[in-house]
Amino acid sequence: CASLVCQQPYAQALTCTVRPKTLTAWLQASSKHEYFLMAIEDLYREVIMDHYKRPRNKGPNLEANVVVEGVNPLCGDEIKLWLTINNEKTVTAASFEGQGCSISQASVSIMTEAIIGECLENVKTIISSFRAMMLEGSEPDEKLLGDGIALEGVRQFPVRIKCAVLSWNTLNLGIDQHATAGDQRVELKHSES
Ligand code: ZN
Repeated sequence: CASLVCQQPYAQALTCTVRPKTLTAWLQASSKHEYFLMAIEDLYREVIMDHYKRPRNKGPNLEANVVVEGVNPLCGDEIKLWLTINNEKTVTAASFEGQGCSISQASVSIMTEAIIGECLENVKTIISSFRAMMLEGSEPDEKLLGDGIALEGVRQFPVRIKCAVLSWNTLNLGIDQHATAGDQRVELKHSES
């Protein structure tokens, strides 16, 4: 972030409203600061709340050829995902509606941003990378996950991991089904159990 306030020590920089181009670039720039670790948690929490309060790609898509609903009964999270996948096997549109906790709703918003414009092969890699971060503690890759790396901290609360992975598992089911359905429209449901 190039704004003046961001060149001050990190605690003051938190007031900055200009989002850095990438999270890690900003964090590396402030990595010598003694509040580094605490600051990551604060920044990631802000990213999650930002997606929760200002969801990206919200709303139905009547032209979607994959429509998948996902529920997480443990927490009561619900999402509905609309995908348009073209003949070149690229996700040209992804949107959602849903209700539930901030983690589940931020996660699906973040996910749509990560997959729009990507071919299905890349989408599979992105899903694997997110699942490996959440379920196995693998090092997150910001190039693949974008703001998704902000959800890594949810691992500290095992009961909430299902909230974070709900939309990604729902997406995974939808594109697997699309691969076998050919030109048929896919409509199905997923439940975390
Ligand atoms: Zn939840």
